[in-house]
Amino acid sequence: MTDPPTEPTSAAPSGGFLPWADRSRPPGPGDLALPVTGAKLLTGVDGQPLRVADLPADTDWVPLGTLDGVPAWGTDLTTTVDGLPGRARGWASLAAEVPEPYATLAGRALAVLTWRRTHRWCGACRAELTDQPGETARRCPDCGLYVPMQLSAAVLVAITRPGPPGHADELLLVRHATGPTGLWALVAGFVEAGETLEAAVHREVGEEVGLPVDGLAYFGSQPWAISGPGVLLAGFTARAADPRAEPVVDGRELTSAQWFGLDALPAQLPPAYSISRWLIDATVTGARR
Ligand SMILES: [Zn+2]
Repeated sequence: MTDPPTEPTSAAPSGGFLPWADRSRPPGPGDLALPVTGAKLLTGVDGQPLRVADLPADTDWVPLGTLDGVPAWGTDLTTTVDGLPGRARGWASLAAEVPEPYATLAGRALAVLTWRRTHRWCGACRAELTDQPGETARRCPDCGLYVPMQLSAAVLVAITRPGPPGHADELLLVRHATGPTGLWALVAGFVEAGETLEAAVHREVGEEVGLPVDGLAYFGSQPWAISGPGVLLAGFTARAADPRAEPVVDGRELTSAQWFGLDALPAQLPPAYSISRWLIDATVTGARR
């Protein structure tokens, strides 16, 4: 008997959420409302989305898409949220608790509203930008500059090597100098302009731990709402090109890097809603096949 391979799509179904930027129909009172305040999203006290009718009638709504056929709208609450129902929560806390695809919708709300707040003025002529109908994009009414919402692509990779004779394969895990420093995570980094995803993996692994890898294979992707607006994570698996090579950390981004047997992984792993964890779990499952 063999276990079925773990597919990233089964770990994060997103069929019920369709991103969309259509303003042709005005928000209805029963539509989903996702108010953003700073880096947090305001939800009902039960963690479920608010409705448009819960907010003042003069609210300025931004189209986000549909969740199970129900239109969803975001708004930027630049002032206090006093008097509104519910509570403000960061994406990590929401994603850890609510099911997909609501977590993905919440991430899009945070990404789009943050992008709009930080892209108010034309970078070329300083005029105030206006929304481009039907798109998540803005345009300058004076000089015509087109400002689409841009995504930052980042890669992460689960690198394995054979374990000692009679033992399980080993997985390379690293600890970062910033963020959750106690977490054992995967090598990751942003893609440079002009670089393929694959080249970014080879470069990041070389820079961060000094190892050559081969057998690079695409695993899946995840929109990520923690590292800033509009981050798209692309996950890969790879094998250490030299099974005897030990990682050497750069001391700048990483504080340590270590091989762990797949049957002896540390407890401090990335959270269950992250593609990092899906990659690690799939690597463990795949090794047992
Ligand atoms: Zn302009």
